[in-house]
Amino acid sequence: MPDCIFCKIIEGELPSEKIYETEEVYCFLDANPLGKGHTLCIPKKHHQNVFEMDADLAAKLIKASKKVAQMQKDNLGADGVDFLQYNGRAGGQEVMHYHMHILPRFEEDSVDAWPETAYKKESLEATAKKLRSG
Ligand SMILES: [Zn+2]
Repeated sequence: MPDCIFCKIIEGELPSEKIYETEEVYCFLDANPLGKGHTLCIPKKHHQNVFEMDADLAAKLIKASKKVAQMQKDNLGADGVDFLQYNGRAGGQEVMHYHMHILPRFEEDSVDAWPETAYKKESLEATAKKLRSG
């Protein structure tokens, strides 16, 4: 898909920080992280959402997501992890290429304050800036 930002990442037209990949799946750091180590896992072929892929590919995406979650636990010391995945505009999807968010969580985070309240009080840019300065 020519105008798809994630297809451009797969093609190497846009930079990304690779975390893990398989033959069909690519996992990389979100350019606008919600937290340290915020990773996206996507299919290398363009599929808009879970409705447009077969169950085998969906299973491979979950398998890769589990691998990344384990890396976040082992290598970043995450105390927990959130999987977030949206399908269709009505489901809150913004980039129309399937992507699983894998968010490492730490005991010091307030789960209750994220993301609807505290997080939305500042821009993604401000949050990323704080994270990079830490
Ligand atoms: Zn795409």
